[in-house]
Amino acid sequence: MVFMKENYIASVSFGKDSVAMLLMLIEREYPLTEVMFYDTGVEFNAIYHVRDQILPILEEKGIKFTTLRPERPFMYDMLEKPVSSKQKGDHLGYGWCGGLCRWGTREKLNALDRYAKEKDALVYIGIAADEPQRLTRMETYKKAPLAEWNVAEAEALSYCRAKGIKWIEDDNQTVDLYDILDRVSCWCCCNKNQKELRQIYLNLPEYWNKLIELQSRLERPMKRFRTDPEFGDLGDIRNLGAYWAAKDKEANRTRDKECDNISYFCDKDGQLALVI
Ligand code: SF4
Repeated sequence: MVFMKENYIASVSFGKDSVAMLLMLIEREYPLTEVMFYDTGVEFNAIYHVRDQILPILEEKGIKFTTLRPERPFMYDMLEKPVSSKQKGDHLGYGWCGGLCRWGTREKLNALDRYAKEKDALVYIGIAADEPQRLTRMETYKKAPLAEWNVAEAEALSYCRAKGIKWIEDDNQTVDLYDILDRVSCWCCCNKNQKELRQIYLNLPEYWNKLIELQSRLERPMKRFRTDPEFGDLGDIRNLGAYWAAKDKEANRTRDKECDNISYFCDKDGQLALVI
């Protein structure tokens, strides 16, 4: 790569790809003057923990750290901002962010682009080698070092883990977000699939409760899932939670019944054996 800029900015969300990119840029001694982080205000706590692990490295290397934020709080835009649209007329709030209506992403990209252009910077972005569709949409002042180095998403995660970076959420230090989610995005992102929502329901009840609270304030269901004859539209995550609670209870009851029918004894070698 040939560089001739004064400002070299890494756009870092503190997810696995951008963290791997940042640490590799430093390791490979690429020109890097600044790191910019767009804080939506609805990041998982783990993102802020990882940021706090990285900040001393930046300080040591003399790399400036800048946080950009939305013009208005994310939740205001989601729930309260007066909005006029063709489909819904006048109403309050853009609603869930994700899918075709990624109003938060639009604002984030605009803010990052504005900042980078003001600085006439070359911007490194954390797009991995196995995300070709994102690479085709890239402006000329942006570079995707991971893709150039042929680093795929899984490799970026392994690299971060080898460096001791973990996206831990719970107090017991047992849940790493990358073990339970396909993508670590805003906690309220409606792009989450059913498997990810189930993991949040099981492992991160405080976020699940926040999602339920949001759903109770939004008319539109978070997801388009099937309708269950007993629980109704499962895209409304209040129904989905009730459905899972009932299914889990039923599964526990069945398991308990099976256990009641099992007798344990020790065989002649002292090994535990069971008879059904
Ligand atoms: S991650 Fe999801 S919620 Fe956050 S800005 Fe992007 S689309 Fe919106």
